[in-house]
Amino acid sequence: MAVPKKRRSYTRNHKRKSHQALKQQDVSTCPGCGNPRLPHTLCATCGTYKGVTWKSA
Ligand SMILES: [Zn+2]
Repeated sequence: MAVPKKRRSYTRNHKRKSHQALKQQDVSTCPGCGNPRLPHTLCATCGTYKGVTWKSA
């Protein structure tokens, strides 16, 4: 197994980690019920997408 020759410094690790933060998720509001929902997804509250209500049966 390959073994690293030198310990990587705190600065080196943290320079890389500075680009790995999670971004704020985009949130839009449902035109049907006004609750927040993810864009291009079915509304979890009222079950509507593009004005069409989803039915399980
Ligand atoms: Zn809705």
